Amino acid sequence: MNHSFRLMQIRGIPIEIHFSWLLIFFLFSISLAQGYFPLMVEDLSSQVYWIAGILTTLLIFGSVLTHELGHSFVALNDGIPIKKITLFIFGGVAQMEAEPKNPKSEFRITAAGPLTSLALAVITGGIYYLFLTPGQIISEAIFFVARVNLIMAVFNLIPAFPLDGGRLFRSIIWLFGKNMLRATRIAVTIGSILSFFAMGLGFVIIFFQGDLWGLWLIFLGWMIYQAGQSSYSQLVFKETFAGMEVSKIMSTDLQTISPDATLEELADHFLHYRYGAFPVVYGSTTHGLVTLQDMKEVPREKWPYTTVVHIMTPLKETMVARPASDAADVMMKMATQNVGRALVMTENGELVGLLSRTDMMRFIQMHMVLGDE
Ligand SMILES: [Zn+2]
Repeated sequence: MNHSFRLMQIRGIPIEIHFSWLLIFFLFSISLAQGYFPLMVEDLSSQVYWIAGILTTLLIFGSVLTHELGHSFVALNDGIPIKKITLFIFGGVAQMEAEPKNPKSEFRITAAGPLTSLALAVITGGIYYLFLTPGQIISEAIFFVARVNLIMAVFNLIPAFPLDGGRLFRSIIWLFGKNMLRATRIAVTIGSILSFFAMGLGFVIIFFQGDLWGLWLIFLGWMIYQAGQSSYSQLVFKETFAGMEVSKIMSTDLQTISPDATLEELADHFLHYRYGAFPVVYGSTTHGLVTLQDMKEVPREKWPYTTVVHIMTPLKETMVARPASDAADVMMKMATQNVGRALVMTENGELVGLLSRTDMMRFIQMHMVLGDE
């Protein structure tokens, strides 16, 4: 996820905060400082309400993070590295480097999150009931944290893939049906039905009760629906390209252009070869990549005296893949960074091919027509 900043590292896992999380931090602090705390505990100064609001929000933040660490530590234990944990508007996500190898591992990793939240709810709730006096600001803060953790545990158990409940459900179908892809399809279908139900309920709440909280439900339902669909297509994608190397899919019929060619010459090149991009090469050195899009941004009257080197994307900013890299990984990276093409180069910097989304689409089409051969 882009638009996030790194906060710290725990056991080698980078913890990142997405900017959308700052919005929720602000909203939470305000509603606690101006709504909840003044209602629960009377006659304190507004500074005290604000400090309590912000500290409680930080505790909630810590709770979400602990939930994700719960997943992450069990995953690490099962030999699955964690790329990073990102906290965003709806909570957190721990990005695993690989899918769990078997249904039991997925069940353990997934269950660890809600169990962690439940444990936090029991601990904070226990402290509240055993040691604290209701009606004091610290007590109400702790009680609030206990309830949020309980809600987090329960909400995450809703069986809408990719929520934890949906993943637990998938791991059970996967265990009995022995087919991960089919289990995912079933879990995603149920998740989609539930998210449409949530959206429908949101509309009903808005139209019949005039309550704008319905919007939140619609938004949430839509997010879950989208997340379910995209994790399913990613999985299908990974299955299609499983174990395939970049060199199998890239185009090797390379047409290059020199960095000191003018844009007029480049235009001729585009017209003649009809490719959308050319690697910029001089001698045996690759300098970058130039696309039709780069060219469009320069007014036509400047073409005769503008050279390719001025409009190309330099090599260090271009996506570069190795011929032996996993094709699915490279294409996922291209999709997430919204890059249309990657240069394929050897360790010694020799250009051997070009990988484009077009190559990928063509490959998927062929795969569908011709089958696994
Ligand atoms: Zn979770």
